[in-house]
Amino acid sequence: SVTDQAFVTLATNDIYCQGALVLGQSLRRHRPTRKLVVLITPQVSSLLRAILSKVFDEIIEVNLIDSADYIHLAFLKRPELGVTLIKLHCWTLTHYSKCVFLDADTLVLSNVDELFDRGEFSAAPDPGWPDCFNSGVFVFQPSLHTHKLLLQHATEHGSFDGADQGLLNSFFRSWSTADIQKHLPFIYNLSTNTTYTYSPAFKQFGSSAKVVHFLGSTKPWNYKYNPQSGSVLEQGSAPSSQHQAAFLNLWWTIYQNNVLPLYQ
Ligand code: UDP
Ligand code: MN
Repeated sequence: SVTDQAFVTLATNDIYCQGALVLGQSLRRHRPTRKLVVLITPQVSSLLRAILSKVFDEIIEVNLIDSADYIHLAFLKRPELGVTLIKLHCWTLTHYSKCVFLDADTLVLSNVDELFDRGEFSAAPDPGWPDCFNSGVFVFQPSLHTHKLLLQHATEHGSFDGADQGLLNSFFRSWSTADIQKHLPFIYNLSTNTTYTYSPAFKQFGSSAKVVHFLGSTKPWNYKYNPQSGSVLEQGSAPSSQHQAAFLNLWWTIYQNNVLPLYQ
């Protein structure tokens, strides 16, 4: 049923919380029929927790220390797995029957409730290596058993990219071949910094985008924004394409209009 399903995101610090807030408000604009949940870590300030509670139905604090001892040991040897192991905590949300995970650097452009028609594990291809999925948007089914298997997999095999995407791709390795229903269309995870590499396709399909993903090292909150002109400033790290600039401007518009007022 819809009441035991949720959109889930993750923010381990106050900076990523800004992304989570814009994502949450972008979801709300399109009247989601599912709950909104954010996973946070102890580093998130009490101010940001209060703001998050105005947008999300549930805030769940997770802590690496909660992981089993053997995981904790593995983590000490592989500190790069830190955020990865925290992301895996989404499988412990067993009070929900099904969830859609969205990175805090994603932005929702229309209602995406139909994602709940998909099963675990559904995700869109990664633009850099399309036989792998991108782990910024995925459909999953919380289960303590799966969570345990994922942690075991992390301990035994690590992650080939040092992050959740490598780990999840090696765990759900049948994704690329087994079931086409589990391939989400690219419009559910459109990476803004790669759209121009196949610009005829972007011209054809870009306007149907439902979720954009600001993947990579420069996040929307790293740009300077001019509220007068309603656009990100060109100096410094300028957006690499017009499409990217339009999505960045939308991110900042939601930040100005739907997030900043929450601080008052
Ligand atoms: N994340 C976080 N704190 C961090 C790094 C990552 O909370 O310091 C979370 C956040 O939800 C983020 C996701 O993990 O969207 C994946 O990281 P990121 O989006 O930076 O990776 P990319 O999509 O650029 O590969
Ligand atoms: Mn991301």
